[in-house]
Amino acid sequence: MAKLTFLGAAGCVTGSKYLVAAAGKKLLIDCGLFQGLDELKQRNWNPLPVDPKTIDYLVLTHAHLDHTGWLPVLVRDGYRQPIYANPATIELTNLLLKDSGHLQEEETQNAIKNKWSKHPDPRALYTSADVEPVLVQLKPMARRGGFDLSPEFHFESYDAGHILGSSSLELTIKENGKKLVVVFSGDVGRYDQPILNDPVSPAAKQIDTLLSESTYGDREHPAGDPLQLLADIVNRVVKRGGSIVIPAFAIGRTQTFMYYLRQLEDLQKIPKVPVYVDSPMALSATDLYLKYKEDHDVEFTRDEQGGGDPLDVHTFHLARSVAESKAINDVKTPCIIISASGMVTGGRVLHHLAQRLGDARNCVILGGFQAEGTRGRALQDGAKTLNLYGQAVPVRAEIVEMGQFSAHAGKSELLRWLGGLQTAPKQVYLTHGEPAAAQALQQAITGKFKWKAAVARYLDSVEIG
Ligand SMILES: [Zn+2]
Repeated sequence: MAKLTFLGAAGCVTGSKYLVAAAGKKLLIDCGLFQGLDELKQRNWNPLPVDPKTIDYLVLTHAHLDHTGWLPVLVRDGYRQPIYANPATIELTNLLLKDSGHLQEEETQNAIKNKWSKHPDPRALYTSADVEPVLVQLKPMARRGGFDLSPEFHFESYDAGHILGSSSLELTIKENGKKLVVVFSGDVGRYDQPILNDPVSPAAKQIDTLLSESTYGDREHPAGDPLQLLADIVNRVVKRGGSIVIPAFAIGRTQTFMYYLRQLEDLQKIPKVPVYVDSPMALSATDLYLKYKEDHDVEFTRDEQGGGDPLDVHTFHLARSVAESKAINDVKTPCIIISASGMVTGGRVLHHLAQRLGDARNCVILGGFQAEGTRGRALQDGAKTLNLYGQAVPVRAEIVEMGQFSAHAGKSELLRWLGGLQTAPKQVYLTHGEPAAAQALQQAITGKFKWKAAVARYLDSVEIG
């Protein structure tokens, strides 16, 4: 009997891992890191309820760390089989995992040095040495269309429009002469956004089980032209002599912001202020965005053909080294700083915020989803102080939440994606959402489509079919 187990992203937005056990084989979809609340992060240290040595296959929907960041632990614990992903996802995963290994080491060293950790003997979840073996196990599969993983498992991939290479996966299982179909939404992106193609709903004629993400299952993104909103912010902040800090993952939102800033400069709607992209991997990620043209939408292709690089702002500074990053602290004239991590859970954005949060002339733009328990969520919720490097830093800067820049579908966009399916799924499970969001989407699905839908529960196993 085919079974599905929710090993992550059930009741929360991180730690995506779904185990399919069918036809005598085990297949893992995604292998993400838990982030945010301490009780979630603690799960990264627990062994999986299934021995990694007994897993036969692994397939990734996209490169974000909450879908790939636990791979080094899985491999260290004995997973030796290929990890399949499309070529863009493989290259991005390479960048992200190397960076994640460094960050884990760096943060642990800092915690030891400054005695920040609650643990008597802090150690890194994994190190760069644990990342290397993962990279050689990554194997390419087609960006779109069919892929025979094994005699039992066949995949069809569809653009999910979330980040470069992001996919929704349709899995066909052959078991005892029977055919079962499971659809994994992956992270579903936005319609009519710059750079990437729109999300495509899978075309299966039979769906036994569907897993749908529900990050924004209870919310719509605010209306309003993001270009104009961004112009208003930049002009307002520059006029009062302040700077803008944008916490953004190096992959995805950094490119979106670069695209909009370049457009605003070309339209002469904002002054040409220096833009600092403070991430050693942002430029590599941007190069990959330009390299994988099959992901580009019509407008981006047209911009590229018009000459120039649509992701290159006029006064661009890239900080690769830590010294270059720290030097940005000396910039006293208005500037824009884009730096990871996007939820302010770590990375260089911490020292930019430590430097600039206390000044009311400055502004922080929160462009992405801020999970429970993260510093980004605290800022979004109006925290008066933020804990950075063991100190409570006062929050005097203007905090602007811009849902328009989200890389996740809003509620009605998720319903649009589901409405695009060719057939009614026999059973839907809502994953990758905090409880209120998952429940709201469940109700919307049963109300609108009359489908059977349930909120996935962590570590639950359900029958497929
Ligand atoms: Zn994602």
